[in-house]
Amino acid sequence: IVSRKNQPDSTVIKVKDTLVGGKASIMVAGPCSVESYQQTREVGAALKEAGVPILRGGAFKPRTSPYDFQGLGIEGLQILKRVGDEFGLATISEIVDPRHLEEAIPYIDIIQIGARNMHNFELLKAAGETRTPVLLKRGLAATMEEFLHAAEYIVSRGNTQVMLIERGIRTYEKWTRNTLDISAVPILKKESHLPVLVDVTHSTGRKDILAPCAKAALAAGADGIMVEVHPNPAVALSDAQQQLNIPEFHKFLSEVKESGLFK
Ligand code: PEP
Ligand code: MN
Repeated sequence: IVSRKNQPDSTVIKVKDTLVGGKASIMVAGPCSVESYQQTREVGAALKEAGVPILRGGAFKPRTSPYDFQGLGIEGLQILKRVGDEFGLATISEIVDPRHLEEAIPYIDIIQIGARNMHNFELLKAAGETRTPVLLKRGLAATMEEFLHAAEYIVSRGNTQVMLIERGIRTYEKWTRNTLDISAVPILKKESHLPVLVDVTHSTGRKDILAPCAKAALAAGADGIMVEVHPNPAVALSDAQQQLNIPEFHKFLSEVKESGLFK
């Protein structure tokens, strides 16, 4: 179903008033984790000012260590929605357990399925039973075929509103957190009609190369970019190293826009 052979026209997904996969590029930004109303609100205000329409923020965090901050859960989603409503922003957050979907959906406009759960077929099927748009992240070591089959799990259950996002893969390289597979973008655009985004933050883990990577993604045909933003990254409860502060975010955005690649 996700193949371009099956549907030559690109899928355009309406999220609130924003179209993903249409003529205009899309930016998704926000903190790694929702930590408090105040923290999320500061980011929401910055997004509103910058004209960025979709606010991200993790509430169920798939952390490497069980002793690290695990997210605020439903309370985090409530904060995200409150801020979204305040500034007219759409919201996206990761759901890790099919049992949370029903309770979570009223608070989010997009269900994020994280890299670690791309192979969680029961979660994919459950997301496929909903009619809420899904942003599916590429697995840490997923091939293009596995990635597209994961999307197929969702759409085959009737939820055709799926967006794909390249977020870097594991390689031997250590100077980036993951390796941004830029070739995934034109391949996915060629093979599938679904919108394709690139998460420049998790793919690089490096604030100093976000803008060139975003420009490369857009030049390769990406429909949008995801980036992490925190009012005070130094005290962030997750991914403190890689989140942009608000002035850095504005600078990143203007650099990307000035390139002319962000349509
Ligand atoms: C995230 O976007 O919050 C996240 C955990 O990313 P990934 O699933 O790509 O690691
Ligand atoms: Mn993160």
